[in-house]
Amino acid sequence: MANAKRIQKDLETLRDISAGSGEGTTRLSYTPAYRKGVEYLKEQMRAFGLVPHEDGVGNLYGDLTGQNPDAPKIISGSHLDTVHCSGYFDGQAGIICALEAARMLKESGEPLNSTFQVMATIMEEGARFPSLGGSRFAIGEHTEETMENTFDMDGVKLGDAIREYGLSGNLEETRRRPEDAKAFLELHMEQGLKLDQTGTDLGIVETIYGSRWFILTCHGATSHPSTPMDIRKDTALAAYKLITNIADTVARDYAGKATVTSGRMQLYPNDINAIPSRSQFSIDFRSGKLEHLDALEALMREQVRLIEKAYRVRFDIALHSAAPPTDNNPVLSKMLEDSAEELGYSHMRMDSGAGHDAMIFAKIWNIAMLFVPSRDGYTHCRQEWTDYENLAKGADVLYRAIRKIDKL
Ligand SMILES: [Zn+2]
Repeated sequence: MANAKRIQKDLETLRDISAGSGEGTTRLSYTPAYRKGVEYLKEQMRAFGLVPHEDGVGNLYGDLTGQNPDAPKIISGSHLDTVHCSGYFDGQAGIICALEAARMLKESGEPLNSTFQVMATIMEEGARFPSLGGSRFAIGEHTEETMENTFDMDGVKLGDAIREYGLSGNLEETRRRPEDAKAFLELHMEQGLKLDQTGTDLGIVETIYGSRWFILTCHGATSHPSTPMDIRKDTALAAYKLITNIADTVARDYAGKATVTSGRMQLYPNDINAIPSRSQFSIDFRSGKLEHLDALEALMREQVRLIEKAYRVRFDIALHSAAPPTDNNPVLSKMLEDSAEELGYSHMRMDSGAGHDAMIFAKIWNIAMLFVPSRDGYTHCRQEWTDYENLAKGADVLYRAIRKIDKL
């Protein structure tokens, strides 16, 4: 069975060698702290016979070579980078549980037919460079052009960051192919409350939510705040009305099925003593069903038309980004579920509201995700927590599922 103490030691060591300095765990991509984390993982991989290597952009792999090295691999892992002042479970727990599964495979003395590969992806969080970067490079969605045209907040070019960190930036050696793997399994913390509130050990993910982000700009006219309500062209009021109308509909008609968020709002001239002539704000729709995203976009466009008329304003709508919902592979999900059942661990089916590398890898491989509880729902902060015993249960399920997949 998985060893919770070993998992604890790895996670605490990764925390202690991060750049958090007491303010949580900070491990941004291509920094000295990231390098320290990678070197620690490599040491642990070698200690159990895994062969580590980094690709051209910094994704780390550790291979436990199978009896048939040419067979498609079974891969498991998650991301090693964190946001600023994070906890030490988000991402990292998925790597360490995969590593623990590899140690169990090694200790069992019964090698797999396929090679089992532990993976630690880079640039997932978007804290330094845009999110899901490591996996997007791995499947070929990011290119040389991405390296030349992407900059961090300090103006450092991604390509330069990669080379200064000591990597080749070679995309040919980074590229993964559909035939490379028969399964990609990602264990991750839930980033929600369902497992914690119901006291359930594990979540079997069915769908990773898709998203559709818009930036809306509303054009009106500035004038003195004494301007009568029925003739002003108030772009703040129009924006608030639009957002609350959409949010009310989502809350009423899409409870548990979709969400809407407006996390950014800028007003011009942004003065107490002036009606805003322009407002610019984001609208972020998320759902597990493409038809919900389509319906919500249509609802937004319909509301825009009504509000333009009622408020004497004009909206520009720009699509910022879109990702379709991603279904987990039902055969792999069933194997995770059966494994949990056989081990006597409680489990439930659920969707993932957040995006993960697994949804990028789903474009070339069969994927499945396993969730562990987030205590009180906290993530991306120091309060982030999953019990080590619970992580050990996750590793047990990975181990068992890997054995099943190996026989496929
Ligand atoms: Zn994460």
